Amino acid sequence: MIAEIKNELEKIKAECINQIAQTDSSTALYNIKVQFLGKSGKLTAQLKNLRNFSDDDKKIIGQVVNQVKADLENEFSKKEKALYSIELEKKLQNEKIDITINRPGFIMGKPHPLDVLLKRINSFFVANGFIIQETREIETSFYNFDALNTPADHPAREAQDTFFLEGGAGNILLRSQTSTGQIRYMQENKPPIKLISPGRVYRADEVDATHTPCFHQLEGLVVAKGINMGHLKGTILEFMKFLFDEKTKIRFRPSFFPFTEPSVEVDASCFSCKDGNIDPACKICKGTGFLEIMGAGMVNRQVLKNVEIDPDEYSGFAFGMGLDRVMAILHGINDARVSFEGDIRFLKQF
Ligand SMILES: [Zn+2]
Repeated sequence: MIAEIKNELEKIKAECINQIAQTDSSTALYNIKVQFLGKSGKLTAQLKNLRNFSDDDKKIIGQVVNQVKADLENEFSKKEKALYSIELEKKLQNEKIDITINRPGFIMGKPHPLDVLLKRINSFFVANGFIIQETREIETSFYNFDALNTPADHPAREAQDTFFLEGGAGNILLRSQTSTGQIRYMQENKPPIKLISPGRVYRADEVDATHTPCFHQLEGLVVAKGINMGHLKGTILEFMKFLFDEKTKIRFRPSFFPFTEPSVEVDASCFSCKDGNIDPACKICKGTGFLEIMGAGMVNRQVLKNVEIDPDEYSGFAFGMGLDRVMAILHGINDARVSFEGDIRFLKQF
């Protein structure tokens, strides 16, 4: 009887090992394990038969069953490990995503040359202790004109020059200069003040190659005790050297603006006409040797009074230039519309 049972157990063992060898999935392997070693499994069934044997025989058969069980568990364990690595490898292959792939025809975006220029300019002024002041584009007549000493009969206040908003009773408009933000800043902060205000401004111009109803300005303002034209000149000369090159010279020409007194137009020497040798055929300066860059001046006493800063105690200088124009000069662009049209053919060149 014992020999028969031993024989039976060996058969079960061989059958199980055979099935383990043939299986290729962990689910199937688990089912085989249940089939042989589970509560109602084939090996367990053999243990149940033991009740018919004497105690000595039970001991012998029990040892054999336990040995077979241990051998089979060892086989299952080896196969489980093998299947796990195969299945993991398969899963990794299936779920692999190559995030580095460059899809054909993919177009990378890049900053607009105007933004690049503005960032560069900002870095100059921030390094020199200026803050960057950005404010609203919709303003009232007070901030756009009155506070800036622009009288009621000034041509800029005519409807054909400025965009007045409907329903604003001639008082609400799209700002025509970024000085509006400087007025707001001076109302809220006492000197010393050092700021630049870059931003988009609007004037009622027809659109052509040299005129656009929307352009970008950069204005600067310094107000403190004892500020004079020497400070204005020094600041602008350093700025022009930064913008063009170290050899750049500047010249002031007398001018008029309502918000500065005295006022000047600032020209910078042409960076293309090297070492002062003016090229009569130079396309950048048109043979003049100088580029008109900005307007500037000492802040008008009345403007300081308008924001309740005592002009006997404080003085200041201000300057303003068109960013679009500077970008055009630097890159040899001859159409002002590129600044805001977002034409991809233009942008691709940078
Ligand atoms: Zn030139």
